[in-house]
Amino acid sequence: MKYLDEFRDRQLARQLAAAIAAAVDPGREYRLMEFCGGHTHAIFRYGIQQLMPPNLRFVHGPGCPVCVLPMARLDQAIAMTHEHGVTLCTYGDLMRVPASRRQTLLKAKAAGADVRMVYSTQDVLRIARDEPGRQVVFLAIGFETTTPPTAVAILQARAEGLKNLSVLCNHVLTPPALRAILELAGPEGVRLDGILGPSHVSTVIGTRPYAFVPHEFGVPVVIAGFEPLDVMQSVLMLVRQINTGRCEVENQYSRAVSESGNVRALELMASVFVTRPSFEWRGLGFLPESALALAEDYADLDAERRFPVRVEGGHEIKGCECPAILRGLKEPTECRLFGTLCTPDNPMGACMVSSEGACAAYWGHRSHRPSSGRNP
Ligand code: SF4
Repeated sequence: MKYLDEFRDRQLARQLAAAIAAAVDPGREYRLMEFCGGHTHAIFRYGIQQLMPPNLRFVHGPGCPVCVLPMARLDQAIAMTHEHGVTLCTYGDLMRVPASRRQTLLKAKAAGADVRMVYSTQDVLRIARDEPGRQVVFLAIGFETTTPPTAVAILQARAEGLKNLSVLCNHVLTPPALRAILELAGPEGVRLDGILGPSHVSTVIGTRPYAFVPHEFGVPVVIAGFEPLDVMQSVLMLVRQINTGRCEVENQYSRAVSESGNVRALELMASVFVTRPSFEWRGLGFLPESALALAEDYADLDAERRFPVRVEGGHEIKGCECPAILRGLKEPTECRLFGTLCTPDNPMGACMVSSEGACAAYWGHRSHRPSSGRNP
């Protein structure tokens, strides 16, 4: 397959593994955070950790959009269906993520709420057009990658004069989360020697927004593609920076990412959204200027204003280590619920649900599943 097989070539993978092994200094430890859940899954799916020298470890980051959504925001969405009878539309992964008191969107749907899974914002527009008698709310989540399509949908709804569509905006921003992770370093956090920067996010925002990482924190960044050879080449680039004391943002994913990103998409986002002063992230707490809300010009399309509800702070499930995993402090197998009470069929936390979650990656691709007798 053109442009895919080339990035999964076994011979090249062996050569890259040998180059990494030759480059690492056996006297030091390399701790590299992959910010993005897509990288976590690539690392497990292709056995990349096993190809690395023992003193090079991956640390999983918070870059899974479903995982970082705090329970209170899910509670808010579910409350809108109960209290205002809205039709709530969202992407598939979110349907099974536990909210407070073991509630989920799927359970709310089973209990009679009108909750619908969509594949794109165009599906949401179609539902609003087809059913003018219903108030349709799009539960929008994701990093900068999924934000431009939401902006397009909002502009389209305004242009068409759709009065029954609104957006519950939970779009979050990558650079503030990276900053939070780096500021957590120390006894409360995790020491990092390098960062594999997100690829899809970077196609939108470019490489420039990461400049603060080497400048302020002395940690090198390599923007890495999602294919196995992308990840391995990016690791080699990071190792070379670390060994020589270089510290900068490099771009391995140059076939898709530029320095300034997708200018049109950024303009669209800036025209529709404003930065929230503060927003809660699961695992990271409230981070300043880390998320988006609809701009005042689009207040009439803002579900938070149109359908106000009161929710308490979310109640995390006892024993779930998602917050520590999202901060890079623990691995999924360090959670005592992993593979016992918590499996993909019966997830206790978002990290086991999402296709980008670290627990789902461990469960799906690692051979050392616990032998509790309950596992598939
Ligand atoms: S295994 Fe389940 S309960 Fe444990 S951290 Fe992962 S999602 Fe949470």
